[in-house]
Amino acid sequence: MAYPKIVINLSAMEYNTRFLMDYFQKKGIEIAFVTKVYCGDERLASVLSDCNVRWLADSRIENLESMNDFAPEKILLRLPMRSEVEQVVKYADISLNSSIDTIHHLSEEAVRQGKVHKVILMLDMGDLREGIFEESEMFEIAEKILQMKGIEFVGVGTNLTCYGGVIPSKENLGRLVDIKNRMEERFGIRLPIVSGGNSSSVDLLMKEEVPGVTQLRLGEISVLGRETAYGEHVLGLREDVFRMEAEIIEIYEKPSVPIGEIGMDAFGNHPIFKDHGNRKRAIIAIGRQDVSYDALIPKDSEIHFIGGSSDHTILDVTDSKSNYNVGDVLKFDLTYGSILSLMTSKYVHREYVRD
Ligand SMILES: *Cc1c(COP(=O)(O)O)cnc(C)c1O
Repeated sequence: MAYPKIVINLSAMEYNTRFLMDYFQKKGIEIAFVTKVYCGDERLASVLSDCNVRWLADSRIENLESMNDFAPEKILLRLPMRSEVEQVVKYADISLNSSIDTIHHLSEEAVRQGKVHKVILMLDMGDLREGIFEESEMFEIAEKILQMKGIEFVGVGTNLTCYGGVIPSKENLGRLVDIKNRMEERFGIRLPIVSGGNSSSVDLLMKEEVPGVTQLRLGEISVLGRETAYGEHVLGLREDVFRMEAEIIEIYEKPSVPIGEIGMDAFGNHPIFKDHGNRKRAIIAIGRQDVSYDALIPKDSEIHFIGGSSDHTILDVTDSKSNYNVGDVLKFDLTYGSILSLMTSKYVHREYVRD
C-alpha cells in the first residue's frame, strides 16, 4: 500500500449523483456535474457517465480532454482563453462566455473544424467575478452571436458566491430568467438553458420555486454533501466521497519552542512560538507541496496541527487516546480546498473503494 493516499468512495459519489439528479429533475432542473475539484478523475467521471448525467463540466480544458470518451456533453466553465480556442471547440460542446471577441474566435474555429459550438452568455449579477455587467451589452452581444456561423446560442447563466459572496435569491435569479424571456421575444428564438449557479443556489432552489431556471452546475455539494450559501449539510447526501491517509515517519517528545536564534522558516516567514512544555510530536509524510495542513481534519479529534513544510506535517498527538507509532497511518476528513490540492499533487496515490 502506497502513502500518502486519497481514498475515493465511488458508492458515495454514485449516491450523491442520483440524489441530486432525481431531486432537481422534479423541479425541471438538470444538473451539470462539476469535475474540477477532482481534476476530471476518470473513475469518478465514469460513475457520473453511468448515472446518465446530462453534462460533465470543468474549468480546465485538459480535464475535458481526459473525459472525452464519456458520453455526456461537456461544458467548459472558465471563460475560454484565446490560446485554447482550438481545444475548446474540440473537447467542449458548450462554453460559458462573456467576450464577443472570444466568441468570434470560437466561431471561426468551429467552422474550421466543421462543428457547431454552443455558447452560454454569462451575466454578472453583482458577485464581480466573470460575466457581462450591463444588461444592454448582454443584448448587443446576443444579437451579434446569433449571426455567427458555427455558434449556437443556447442560453444565459450566472455565477454567484464565488468572489463577492453574493447569495442567490428569487430576485437575482428571477432577473436572469426575465432577461432570457425578453431575449426570446426580441430575437424570436428559443433559449433552453438558464444556468442558475453553483452549489450556493441549492438552498434557495430546495426551498423556493424560481420558475425558468433549467440548469445548475454542481461540484462541491456532490462531493461534500453541503450547499455553499450557508454551508449547511443537505439531508441524505453523503459527505465521505473523499478521505486522506498519511503515514507517520517520526514520533518523539520534544519542546514546543525551538532552541537557538530564530530566523526564517522554509517559506520565508518569521515563526512565533508559545511554550506548552514538552509535547509528543508526530511527523507524517505529506507536506505543503500536496496540501495545506490547515485544510485537513484529523479523524482523531485529539490531534492538533503544529506546522509543516513542503514535505512534512508536524502534529501534536499528546492528548490522543491512541498510542501511535512510526509506521501507523493517520486518517483525515477533507475540505474542498484539500481535495483540490491533493488531487492535483502527483505524489498522492488514489485508492478507489465502494462502501
Ligand atoms: C467551479 C464552478 C462551479 C461549481 O461550483 P461548486 O461550488 O463547486 O458547486 C459552477 N460554475 C462555475 C462557473 C464554476 O467555476
